[in-house]
Amino acid sequence: MVIDIFDSTLRDGAQAEGISFLVTDKLKIAKALDELGVSYIEAGNPGSNQKDLEFFKEAKNYKFKHSKLVAFGSTRRCNIKAEDDNNLNALLEASTEYVCIFGKSSLFHVENIINTTKEENLSMIKDSILYLRKNNKKVFYDAEHFFDGYKNNREYALETLKTAAEAGAECLILCDTNGGTFPLEMAKIIEDVKKNVNAKIGIHAHNDSGMATSASIEAVLAGCTQIQGTFLGYGERCGNANLSTIIANLELKKNICCLPSGNLEKLTSTAKFIAEVSNFQMAKGMPYVGDSAFAHKAGMHIDGVYKNPKSFEHIEPDKVGNERRFLISEVAGKSTVIAKINKIYPDIKKDDPAIDVIINRVKTLEYMGYAFEGADASFELLVHKALKNFKSFFEVENFKTIGEGPSLENEYSASAIIKVIVEGEEEVTAANGDGPVDALNKALRKAIGKFYPILNEVSLSDYKVRILDGKESATAAITRVIIESTDGKTSWSTVGVSKDIIEASFKALTDSIEYKLFKENN
Ligand SMILES: [Zn+2]
Repeated sequence: MVIDIFDSTLRDGAQAEGISFLVTDKLKIAKALDELGVSYIEAGNPGSNQKDLEFFKEAKNYKFKHSKLVAFGSTRRCNIKAEDDNNLNALLEASTEYVCIFGKSSLFHVENIINTTKEENLSMIKDSILYLRKNNKKVFYDAEHFFDGYKNNREYALETLKTAAEAGAECLILCDTNGGTFPLEMAKIIEDVKKNVNAKIGIHAHNDSGMATSASIEAVLAGCTQIQGTFLGYGERCGNANLSTIIANLELKKNICCLPSGNLEKLTSTAKFIAEVSNFQMAKGMPYVGDSAFAHKAGMHIDGVYKNPKSFEHIEPDKVGNERRFLISEVAGKSTVIAKINKIYPDIKKDDPAIDVIINRVKTLEYMGYAFEGADASFELLVHKALKNFKSFFEVENFKTIGEGPSLENEYSASAIIKVIVEGEEEVTAANGDGPVDALNKALRKAIGKFYPILNEVSLSDYKVRILDGKESATAAITRVIIESTDGKTSWSTVGVSKDIIEASFKALTDSIEYKLFKENN
């Protein structure tokens, strides 16, 4: 069985609090969705938004391999002709093969919100679809508030669908606009629709009851052949049905085809990319695609997964392009550390003396306040060093930071001076920054970047500070800094600990640079 995935991240998803896509962002996401292979990409509302019209103009320059672009709008306004409706005409201007329009299915909305008659609302649906079809558009019809409308007045709700089907809509999409319908109730209503309306049916669910994903899956099992949703569930209020979860569930658990064969492996990277362009940190626990989706921490779980991954994993992570992780922590046993070392050195034996060296080192560092759970790159460096496979790329002789307060607007509040030695050559560099850590980071990169220009690609993507055990004297407590760095292709995390926040940051920063250089040279 095959169903159509209709992605509305760029239209309904853009309604999410905190999202503001530029035209270039939309193009990036549309291309990523096309690479993944969704059937339809609803990219905006050209009638209500100049930026969206611009997007459709730009998008004409791109050849999409799998996906069809869809422009979104609504049925004509009350008491005018379809050809006089600006919104419908803007849809034509978008020049897409497909358009999607929403109309009212709920008599409550017809009479109380748009204040017209039930007959006029049916004409609005019919005229709009006929007008778009006359202009060579294929039309999807979104039946807004369908489930609430059905519960309010079943006959009328079905009548609106029949009208859209007779006017020639390609697919009728039943919308749970307010997100309040339970999955099994929804399935029952869909079965009734299937009996009474002769057309393809789709589902558009919102997540206000926290069930949009399961509702969409039940809807497919009840006979819907199109699912509308957004990546990572982005959308107004509590969001839309989450396509990254739905696609994986249908393909892996129900054997229902959503993407071109082989493309499911791109799911995690696509989800991460969309989160990044949307300027959101993806929740670690996001099913299938989150960083923690296959991360094991408890010692017994790790032991089990080490023997057979099926013991604590519902699917193999690489099926969705994600990966298994073992988290290091004091509660984890020896097998955790061995499993983690094995990921770096698959051939190392359990009785290799280096393993005890590494375990003791990890224990000592954890006692000092280090945590390697969120600092995979620092752990990896520690392993390479213990196995004597690591040679330092640089040495920092000393550094000095000078901060000034209170900080003034548009002026740097600190500067740093650093002296490094690379292969016998000395380099002294200074830099200004917003605060001493920023200044130090810039000075360090500038000094070492002179010898290793590859470091220009690297930037910090996250910086976390945690004060440990601050009971006795808060200002002299141990500080743990975890930073995440990226070169645009991959990201890695490193850790530093000290009583001094600048020193802790410095340690994490040098690990980050050493890790990048090590990876480049090995
Ligand atoms: Zn919606």
